[in-house]
Amino acid sequence: MLLDGSIRELKGVGDKRAALYKKLDIVTVGDLLRHYPRAYEDWSQTTPLHLAMPNEPCCVKGWVVAAPSEYRVRKGMTLYRFRVTDGRDTVQVTLFNNRFAAAKVRRDMEILLYGTVTRNGRHYEMSSPLVEAADVGERIRPIYRQTEGLTSRMIETNVRQALEAVEKNPPPDCLPADLRRQMQLCDQLTAWQTVHAPSNTQALQEARRRLVFEELFLLQLGLLRIKNRARGVAGARITTDYTADYTASLPFTLTGAQRRTIAECVRDFAAERPMSRLVQGDVGSGKTAVAAGVAYTVVRNGWQAAMMAPTEILAQQHAETLQKLLGDRVRIGLLTGSVTAAKRARLLEALAVGEIDLLVGTHALIGEHVHFARLGLVITDEQHRFGVGQRAALAAKGVNPHMLVMSATPIPRTLALIMYGDLDVSVLDELPPGRQPIKTYAITPDIRARAYGYVRQHLDEGRQGYIVCPLVEEGEEPSELTAATELFERLRSGPFKGYRLGLLHGRMKPSEKEAVMEAFAAGEIQLLVSTTVIEVGVDVPNAVILVVENAERFGLAQLHQLRGRIGRGRYPSTCVLISDHGGEETRRRLQVMCATTDGFRIADEDLKLRGPGDFFGNRQHGLPNLHMADLMADMSLMQLAQTAAANRLSADPALARAENAPLRAAVARLFAQVGAQGLN
Ligand code: ADP
Ligand code: MG
Repeated sequence: MLLDGSIRELKGVGDKRAALYKKLDIVTVGDLLRHYPRAYEDWSQTTPLHLAMPNEPCCVKGWVVAAPSEYRVRKGMTLYRFRVTDGRDTVQVTLFNNRFAAAKVRRDMEILLYGTVTRNGRHYEMSSPLVEAADVGERIRPIYRQTEGLTSRMIETNVRQALEAVEKNPPPDCLPADLRRQMQLCDQLTAWQTVHAPSNTQALQEARRRLVFEELFLLQLGLLRIKNRARGVAGARITTDYTADYTASLPFTLTGAQRRTIAECVRDFAAERPMSRLVQGDVGSGKTAVAAGVAYTVVRNGWQAAMMAPTEILAQQHAETLQKLLGDRVRIGLLTGSVTAAKRARLLEALAVGEIDLLVGTHALIGEHVHFARLGLVITDEQHRFGVGQRAALAAKGVNPHMLVMSATPIPRTLALIMYGDLDVSVLDELPPGRQPIKTYAITPDIRARAYGYVRQHLDEGRQGYIVCPLVEEGEEPSELTAATELFERLRSGPFKGYRLGLLHGRMKPSEKEAVMEAFAAGEIQLLVSTTVIEVGVDVPNAVILVVENAERFGLAQLHQLRGRIGRGRYPSTCVLISDHGGEETRRRLQVMCATTDGFRIADEDLKLRGPGDFFGNRQHGLPNLHMADLMADMSLMQLAQTAAANRLSADPALARAENAPLRAAVARLFAQVGAQGLN
């Protein structure tokens, strides 16, 4: 069986189960084998009842004293009770509604029970333990991330089938043999067999080490290959610096940090290789004006530039802002998914013959029909929303274009080295002058009416505001859409009757969104009720109030981004976080928001409070998902992987040698997840 084969080739996997697997992003047999257990139950070590620790799951082995008796407590609730002795003590076992498990239990059989043991004087009890016959159960069992209708146990069975099939005809190991020898890593098949069905914890450690190394190594190889895209080749030739021309026409004076950053970019243009620079600046630090300045010099030198933003709203706004900042001297085009076919055709034609200097858009920019005449600069805004691969794909539209990457999400330094290891960094550590600090309050819903009064006061003074709707978790009713619509209706007919309200959510047509944003930017809408679609980049300096409902449901970094929508002009701004969730952790998190507006401090706290797991979610950084590696815990392996990847590529830059073929395929597969092309 091939790893690329569909999981339907496994016995018992039909349309229905395949659809459930799809929910876990598992399509092929290889995906299934790489669906590593998230935890294990140790059924290999059994614990005598009298040594069982309270509240700690363990495995008890014993003999069934009497077969289960059935008690129908009420409709829909049946208990099964039986007793098990371990030779010294006896435990009373209760199963709820689990006829299937109870049917397995016979008098005098040797049995394994996995669960927590509670002790009541001399009585032992186990409630709803997992039950297995002793002869099949005694081992370390994997626990898989599951989904409704597809249990960990079902996955375990399918994994076993997949392993059996693969054992007959093992696929080539993606790690070359010499590297495995050098790093003392076990082979791929052994690692899979062990990680899915470990015989003991030491073997598991070794398998895990191999798989973590593999992931980090592939990650590094991919990143290095993107970085080396233009080794030894100069970028677009830019000889004249037009920054002075740009600044002379601006409606404001650039901050020192903005000027320094533009200068750093211009200096990069003179280097032997194309620029690869990350501009990291907190929300509101003025990254757009930097991008405009850099693009201006590039365009005046006869090249085209492209700027990619993560949402249509943002792309639209950027196109307008850039037109204002650059005036008629630069011909700007806007390309998003919603541009009509006819307009799009004209736009692409103009682009291909060089009649457009600066193309702004969403990921539609990397579409296959988009051709530039002379692409010299690629800018990605809010990079954390894109995959590294998408950035590379846009760059591939030019011949070694310069690359400018902008991000507001502050990330810990070690992580930055990994994610942006291929980039030089400029930090915008200065806000434009005249900014008023934002005051933030965390309140409970019972004083919401007062908060609304406060909002009305500001609207009456001619300012504007946002109310961000409760974030609705997936699968929860009502949907985000109805939540937004309902809140909007309630506010419009209640506390904000007579005010001009607007509604914005992700399900609206792009043209509708655009119309609402325009009306808001023009001041025609006073209060915008919105889902998190305004999270990044939206810039309306007259908006001074932000109210966030169900604030406890947002991550700190996200709240910080949302709060970045206000405090952008010369008026003092206020952020109100409403939450009725009294939990300690929520209070602490919201307290952090009240205490500081420094994005780096917030990122640090976020990392401390939530742990690295969430932080490294794909959405945050656009790197491929790592199944095994924990970037914080596995830092030392990370360094080894980095060195090994660099060595391998210096010997074989394109991984073209036969022995590296499985490796090249594995890197391509990993990066395909994040939209990377050109790696195979
Ligand atoms: P971000 O870094 O969050 O992308 P923007 O580029 O959207 O920030 O800029 C935020 C606001 O600050 C915009 O309204 C912009 O016009 C304004 N701005 C940018 N630079 C300056 C400056 N040097 N002086 C005054 N206002 C500025
Ligand atoms: Mg921005």
